[in-house]
Amino acid sequence: MTERFTGNFTQQEPIPDAAIDAAMEVLRSGRLHRYNTAEGEAGETALLEQEFAAAMGARYALATASGGSAIATALRAVQVQPGEEVLTNAFTLAPVPGAIASLGAVPVYVGVTEGLVIDIDHLQTLAETGTYRVLLLSHMRGHICDMDRLMAICDAAGILVIEDCAHTMGGAWDGTMSGQHGAMACYSTQTYKHMNSGEGGFLTSDDPDLMARAIVLSGSYMLYDRHLAAPGPEHFEQVKYVTPNISGRMDNLRAAILRPQLRALQDQCDRWNDRYRRVEDGLRGTPGLSVIERPAKERYVGSSIQFLLLDWSDKAVNEVLRRCAARGVELKWFGGAEPVGFTSRYDSWRYAPSQPMPRTDRVLKGIVDMRLPLTFSLQDCDLLARIIRAEVGAVFQSS
Ligand SMILES: *Cc1c(COP(=O)(O)O)cnc(C)c1O
Repeated sequence: MTERFTGNFTQQEPIPDAAIDAAMEVLRSGRLHRYNTAEGEAGETALLEQEFAAAMGARYALATASGGSAIATALRAVQVQPGEEVLTNAFTLAPVPGAIASLGAVPVYVGVTEGLVIDIDHLQTLAETGTYRVLLLSHMRGHICDMDRLMAICDAAGILVIEDCAHTMGGAWDGTMSGQHGAMACYSTQTYKHMNSGEGGFLTSDDPDLMARAIVLSGSYMLYDRHLAAPGPEHFEQVKYVTPNISGRMDNLRAAILRPQLRALQDQCDRWNDRYRRVEDGLRGTPGLSVIERPAKERYVGSSIQFLLLDWSDKAVNEVLRRCAARGVELKWFGGAEPVGFTSRYDSWRYAPSQPMPRTDRVLKGIVDMRLPLTFSLQDCDLLARIIRAEVGAVFQSS
């Protein structure tokens, strides 16, 4: 009998009951706007920011309308100028170069390694030969590079680092939470990330002046003193007159949904990693397939898994995808010439022309990606690995 998987790769867990109850209370109050608070009430959004800052180990936090909005706000806070070249990952998701382009700035791509992290040697070359001021570092699919080496290079070159932690919320490098190395960090609470409010995001920083600017940018209407995870009023004295209001706030309803989820974040991360390791163990040793070896210093969050079919032909990769799909296993390929769904390649972002990067193209052409929602059981994960192993093996043998 051929085994078939029947789970749904985009089905997340329900919103926890405590979050639903909190949401109902906000709905009954009618006070959904973050600054619409009763006498003596802090409001769900302000409380969430305080709790998020504490959970990430950051001094300040700002809740935003989306992860992409958090990134654009961070880029504006560090005063990226129109036409300015901003370093970022070649292997990332479209909202990352999109945020750079939204400011009229120009993404310059840094390559990807076989470990699926930013190519730090390439970054070093660019840092030594260019005059870049900002790196928007995307911890794409939760792979964290050697942050000590990256920060040493960027600090030496005077490059400010903004971290895109959409896939590393809850992760860490050498004991430091992901997002706490750079000047600012951005997170997403969109449905497919580590906490789910439909849409939403965060910005964190330890820098009072950057955060003051970010808060005004987010649309605070001079009500910044209602923020509980914000710098003191003296940091707003200058910026409030010269910083535009570009509304991108979170509301109390989403914040209410997120507060109970934040309390459960580390447990959820452990559950993702249990699933990730089951799939990884099942795939290890498959001929033609490389699992991504994770560095000992990395505390990852395995909400998705990637493997490499390195130097396979397009035809053979497509055959694996087709055969797995026929057995209910939804794989995504980052090497496809055309953007499909959430997956696209740097050379398909045509608003930001790129130089050819042969070593990066070789890796991208081999990256196969699979989501691991928490609705999958450990037995599901074993089955997924068995199916992929069998189909990769079959195609590998016949090619
Ligand atoms: C989802 C995501 C974002 C942006 O988040 P949105 O909330 O969808 O705007 C940014 N970077 C990466 C890598 C993402 O996966």
